[in-house]
Amino acid sequence: MSSGTLIEELAAVVGPRYVLRGRAALLPYASDANRIFAGRPLCAVCPADTAQVAAVVSACHRAGVAFVPRGAGTGLSGGASPGDGEVVVSLARLNRIRAVDAASRTAVVEPGVVNLRLSQHVAPLGLYYAPDPSSQSACTIGGNVAENAGGAHCLKYGVTTNHVLGLEVVLPDGSLLRTGALGPRCQGYDLTGAFCGSEGTMGVVIAACVRLLPRPQAVRTALALFRSVEDAAAAVQRVTACGVLPAALEMMDQNAMTAVDRGAYPVGYPPDVRAALLVEFDGLARGLDEHAEAAMAICRQCGVSEVRQARDDAERHLWWNNRKAAFAAMGTVARAYYVADGVIPRTALTTVLGQIAEIAADARLWVADVFHAGDGNLHPLIAYDPAVAGMERRVVETGSAILAACVRAGGVVSGEHGVGLEKRDELYYCFDEQDLAAQRDLHAIFDPDDRANPGKVLPLPGRCAEVRAAAWDARARVAGAGERGGAAAG
Ligand SMILES: Cc1cc2nc3c(=O)[nH]c(=O)nc-3n(C[C@H](O)[C@H](O)[C@H](O)COP(=O)(O)OP(=O)(O)OC[C@H]3O[C@@H](n4cnc5c(N)ncnc54)[C@H](O)[C@@H]3O)c2cc1C
Repeated sequence: MSSGTLIEELAAVVGPRYVLRGRAALLPYASDANRIFAGRPLCAVCPADTAQVAAVVSACHRAGVAFVPRGAGTGLSGGASPGDGEVVVSLARLNRIRAVDAASRTAVVEPGVVNLRLSQHVAPLGLYYAPDPSSQSACTIGGNVAENAGGAHCLKYGVTTNHVLGLEVVLPDGSLLRTGALGPRCQGYDLTGAFCGSEGTMGVVIAACVRLLPRPQAVRTALALFRSVEDAAAAVQRVTACGVLPAALEMMDQNAMTAVDRGAYPVGYPPDVRAALLVEFDGLARGLDEHAEAAMAICRQCGVSEVRQARDDAERHLWWNNRKAAFAAMGTVARAYYVADGVIPRTALTTVLGQIAEIAADARLWVADVFHAGDGNLHPLIAYDPAVAGMERRVVETGSAILAACVRAGGVVSGEHGVGLEKRDELYYCFDEQDLAAQRDLHAIFDPDDRANPGKVLPLPGRCAEVRAAAWDARARVAGAGERGGAAAG
């Protein structure tokens, strides 16, 4: 089937206005929020329901053309970035909350439902959806499932996979698979778990049954300011070890504080503060003050210069908005930024933060650290100017060196942003060929022809260096053709 015939077939399924073509219309679909990894799709298709998704995927299957599922495009690892000539399948129009069962505390939602909208929808029932990526006002449940997204409060509540009870998936040949609570409800392999974090490489999620939680009765939030990163890191270790688990434990270094205080929600951090911790406890009101006091006492023992609880909801919201806007606030200090995403044992915080500073200094790059400290999930934000020749390559290689340091410290290469194109070759830091062969075998069961988001997650066997070099050559070609925008993640 020619590409023209495929486009005609797709238009017959979704209607011509929902098949986007041409450079301007496709620009938003050329990459996710990591604009370093961009491609030129054949078209972007916007189906409206399950039947249309199945028909679109079937048409791609018959035509032998690869497709890329897409939610809101807030991903940071190039997961939704298409390869040249691929079909982007936008799930934005599948945005219904199909059912809410307050008694069993579950909801069945379509993939295009925005994360925060689900919590807002069930708030009158005293319920919410716990996984809270900082992008939650834009990112979708489908994207969250595909990336196994985390968030600030996942320290206590777990990441997306802990909240997904079942899925409906259109497989790469257009057939339908129902798993877990949306399937036959029978024992067997945990296919729901296999799809969480599969990054669109095994099919398209078209519905998810998710767990809802009762809203916590009370919340206590404290902000602790330290004159040294070492003291703050010591406090992180001791708070998490003391037996009262915070709902969230976030950290920012001085560079991050500089950026956020220039952003939309300034807190006014004193200039001599080198690290800030945001510590939150939630749950039953009874005992919560004691938990917050215990954490603040530990901060005092660790040499905090100032620590106090939020005076009211307005101050608490300001602190959280300040923290959650940290990525966006990088726009106040640089033309673009690149987010690394590694995980380390909490005990290695001081060492690895020091190594990150050295790696950045060697590469002559400015880095701000803002991260989910409680679960050791680092997000060094590397500032750069995309207009400088060779800069993107230097930035990505610096990110790779940071991930290597995380792995050397006993960590892993992705905490929550997924592997995508960005960290595909870095999987070799953690896995050997035998490990990867098992994962390739699993993938091949669902996508034997490699048509679902190909090239993402799994590196090609034994070709690490070669693949990376080819990828840079391809990027250079695209850049040379003037097809790619310059700025980095949003
Ligand atoms: C400012 C900012 C802050 C962020 N903070 C966090 C954070 O705290 N925690 C966190 O985990 N992430 C965070 N992210 C990253 C991103 O928001 C998450 O990865 C999110 O889950 C992506 O959702 P999306 O709808 O934008 O998916 P997209 O970016 O569109 O896609 C992501 C991946 O999912 C696949 N996909 C999308 N929809 C489907 C579907 N229906 N079926 C199958 N595959 C699908 C795509 O192919 C791609 O591989 C942040 C991003 C930004 C820009």
